[in-house]
Amino acid sequence: MRDKTDLLVIGAGPGGYACAFRAADLGRDVTVVDARETLGGVCLNEGCIPSKALLHAAETLRDAAHMGAWGITFGAPKIDLDALRARKNDIVSQLTGGLGGIAKRRKVRRVQGTARFSGANTVEIDGTEMRFDQAVIAVGSAPIRLAGWPEDARIWDSTAALELREVPDTLAIVGGGIIGLEMATIYSALGSQVTVVELAGQIAPGADAQAVAILHAALTAQGVTVHTATRVDAVAATASGLTLTCSGHFKGRITADAVIQSVGRRANGDRINAQAAGLTVTDRGTIEADATGRTRLPHIFAIGDVTGNPMLAHRATHQGHIAAEVATGHTAALGTTLVPSVAYTSPELAWVGLTEAQAKADGHPAKATSFPWAASGRNLASGGGDGMTKLIYHPQTHRLLGGTIVGRNAGELLAEITLAIEMGATLDDIGLTVHAHPTLSETVAFAAEKALGTLTDL
Ligand code: FAD
Ligand code: NAD
Repeated sequence: MRDKTDLLVIGAGPGGYACAFRAADLGRDVTVVDARETLGGVCLNEGCIPSKALLHAAETLRDAAHMGAWGITFGAPKIDLDALRARKNDIVSQLTGGLGGIAKRRKVRRVQGTARFSGANTVEIDGTEMRFDQAVIAVGSAPIRLAGWPEDARIWDSTAALELREVPDTLAIVGGGIIGLEMATIYSALGSQVTVVELAGQIAPGADAQAVAILHAALTAQGVTVHTATRVDAVAATASGLTLTCSGHFKGRITADAVIQSVGRRANGDRINAQAAGLTVTDRGTIEADATGRTRLPHIFAIGDVTGNPMLAHRATHQGHIAAEVATGHTAALGTTLVPSVAYTSPELAWVGLTEAQAKADGHPAKATSFPWAASGRNLASGGGDGMTKLIYHPQTHRLLGGTIVGRNAGELLAEITLAIEMGATLDDIGLTVHAHPTLSETVAFAAEKALGTLTDL
C-alpha cells in the first residue's frame, strides 16, 4: 500500500465509486478504500441489485399465475432456491466485477481495509497510516436494530433476508417502509405467509395516501397481512418460532418462523473516528455537508447515506460527482432537492417532488389531478391491475410540483415527471407532448389533460 494519495475516498458504494471515477477522469491521483473485497457498497452487494433480482423472480411468478385468467396455465412453479440464489449472486458479481475493471482502466488505486481518521490529513487502514491531501467520506449506513430483541439467527436484517437462506412458512416483517414492502413482495411470491407490522398510520409513510391505498390493497390480494398503526412491544424466541407481541391498531401476538427487521438505516459517521480529523458527527451518525459536499473542513467532503436522508443510491452518485468536481477545482453544487423514490413492489410505487399532503402542510398553493389506470388500454392489455398517475401542480402557473405513480413500471415512468419538474414544465407542456399509444406513459399526459379540461379518454 502507498502511504500517500492526493484524494482518498473512504467507502466504495454508489457515492464513493462514482466520486473516485469522476475525480480520476478529472486528472486526480485517487485511492479508494473499502472494507469489502468488491466495489459497489451496499447497493450492489446487499441492497438495490440483489433485491431487484429477487423482485424480478417474484414478478415472474405472479405474472405466470395471473395468466390463468387468460386461459394459459403453467402449473405450480418449482423453485430451486440454490439456483435462484446463484443467479442473484451472479448478477451481483457481474456488476461488481465490472466496476473493478472500470477502476483499473481509470488507474484508481484500490485498498481493502477499514479506515479510521487519525488526524486532519491521515487515516489508519487496519494499522497502516495513509496521508491524504483531500478525503471524501462515503461510508454509507447500516440497518437499525431495535433494542431489547433477542439474539436469534431467525431474526434477519435486509442483508440476511437477501441471502435467501430459506423460504420460511411464516414471516413477520417489522417496518413497512421500502425495504419491508420489497421483502414482503419477494417472500410472499416465493410462498411465505407474510405479515407486515408498521408503526405509522400507513405503509410507505410519506408517500401519497391514495396511491399507498392501491398498493396496500394489492399486497392484501397477494395474501400479505398488513397491520398499520401497530407497535411491536416484545419479541420472544422459542424452539418452535418467534412471537411478536403487538399493541396499537392490532393488539395481539404474531407467531412466525422468521422475522425481518426493516425499521430504517443509521448513518455510519460514528464508526470512522471522525473527531480525530476535527469533524463533528450528529447523534444520528450523520456528517453534515453543504451543497458542494464540503464538510466544515474544506479539504474533507461527505456524500451519500452518511449525510442522512433520503438514503438512496442515485442521490449518493450525484453527490459523488459534485464532490469530485469541487475537489478538483471546478465549480459545482447539487442544484436540486428533487430525488425520486421508487418502491419496486407489485405494483411499483414511485414519487417525486411534493405530495398533495406535503403541499397542504407547507402551505404551497397546489392542486392535484389524477388518471386511473383502469382507463389505460395498455395497462389492461398488459394484465395490469389497479393503478394511478397523479400530478401536483401550481393552480395559476400550471407548473408541475410533484407526481406519484402506482402501477407496473411506475419507477420507469416517473422519469418524465422528474424531468418535467426540473425543466419547469407545465401541464400544457405535458398534455401537448405527443405520447405514443398505447403506452403507460400516456397516463401522465392524460392526468395533465384532465386538469386542463382537454381529456377525451375518460
Ligand atoms: P454504501 O453503499 O452504504 O457504501 C458504503 C461503503 O463504505 C460500504 O461498502 C462499506 O463497506 C464501506 N465502509 C464503511 N465504513 C468503512 C470504513 N471505515 N472503511 C472502509 N470502508 C468502509 N437505493 C436506491 O436508490 N434504490 C434501490 O432500489 C435501493 N434498494 C435497497 C435495498 C436494500 C435491501 C437496501 C439495504 C438499500 C437499498 N437502497 C436502494 C439504498 C442504497 O443501497 C443506499 O442508499 C446506497 O448504497 C448508499 O450509497 P453510499 O455510497 O452512501 O454507501
Ligand atoms: P424506512 O425508514 O424507509 O422505513 C422504516 C419503516 O419502519 C418506517 O415506515 C417506520 O415507520 C417503521 N418503523 C420504525 N420503527 C418501527 C417499529 N418499532 N415497529 C414497526 N415499524 C417501525 O427504512 P427501510 O425501509 O428500512 O429502508 C432504509 C433505507 O434504505 C431508506 O432510506 C430507503 O429509502 C432505502 N431503500 C430504498 C429502496 C429503494 O429505493 N427501492 C429499497 C430499499 C431501501
